[in-house]
Amino acid sequence: MSEEKVAPPSLQPNRFGECRLCLTNAELQNSHFISKAAYKRVRSADENPNPFINDGMKALQTAKQITAHVLCFDCEQRLARSGEDAFFRSCYQPSGSFPLLELLKENKPLYENDRFAGIVVQEPQYSLVEQIGYMGISLLWKSAAHVWRFRGSTISSINLGKVYQEQIRQFLLGRAQFPEHAALAIEVSDENNRLIGMFGTPLSKKLSTNHLHWIDLLGIRFNLLVGARMPVSVKNLSVFRTGQKCLIIAKKQEGLMVKDYHRHLQLMAG
Ligand SMILES: [Zn+2]
Repeated sequence: MSEEKVAPPSLQPNRFGECRLCLTNAELQNSHFISKAAYKRVRSADENPNPFINDGMKALQTAKQITAHVLCFDCEQRLARSGEDAFFRSCYQPSGSFPLLELLKENKPLYENDRFAGIVVQEPQYSLVEQIGYMGISLLWKSAAHVWRFRGSTISSINLGKVYQEQIRQFLLGRAQFPEHAALAIEVSDENNRLIGMFGTPLSKKLSTNHLHWIDLLGIRFNLLVGARMPVSVKNLSVFRTGQKCLIIAKKQEGLMVKDYHRHLQLMAG
C-alpha cells in the first residue's frame, strides 16, 4: 500500500475553525490523538537513543503520529491537565515499570481467579483513578468526534450516538455529570498480559443490554458501556460512580470485559 506524502506534524500549520469540544471558533491546533502536552511525562523516553526498545515505546511512537485539526489550544490543555498527565504518570512506562499496576497490587483483591482480580482502591486514590478515567473517556470521545488518520489510512472510529456524544462532551468540559446511563470501567494488564505495551485502535460491540466501546493504551484498557438497560452490577464498576471504586487487573486479555466478568461483577462491585 502506498503511503500519502504528508508533512510531519510539526510542519503542519494551525487552521482556523470550530473546536469540536468547546464549539468556539478558534485557531485549531494540529492536535495529537493523545495530546502532545501529555508526553512531557515520558520525556525520558524521547531521550532514549533506541526509541523502539520495546513494544511500549512503539505504541507511544505510533500514538504520537496520529494528528488532526480538531481542538483549540485551551481544550488541548484541558484534556492534558484533566486526564492525560495522570495517565502518563501511571501507565506502563518505557522503562518497564507500571505505577498503576504497582499501586493496585498494594491492595488485597476483593475477588481473584486465574484470569483477573478485582481491586477496590483506597479513597486517597479516587482522584487519580478519576483522572485516568477522564483520559479514557476523552480518547473514546475524540475517536467518535473525528475520523483520525495514520500514515494515509483512517483508524477505526466509534459511534457513541448523538445523545451520548453530546453528554460526554459536556462532561469533558466540566459542565455536566458523567452520563447517567454510561459507565467507564478500567482494566489494567498484569506483567504477563501481552496487551501491556500496546496501543489499540478503538473498537465497539453491541451486547444484549448495552453497547461496549473500548481502547487499549499502554497497559490500560478503557471500557465505555452505554445503554439504559445496563445491569446495575456493571454500572457499579464505573470509576465515575460515587463511593467505592473497583478496578480490574486482567491476567489474560483475550476476551471482552462483560462476557468474562459478568458472573463476578456483583461480588466485585457490590
Ligand atoms: Zn476548544
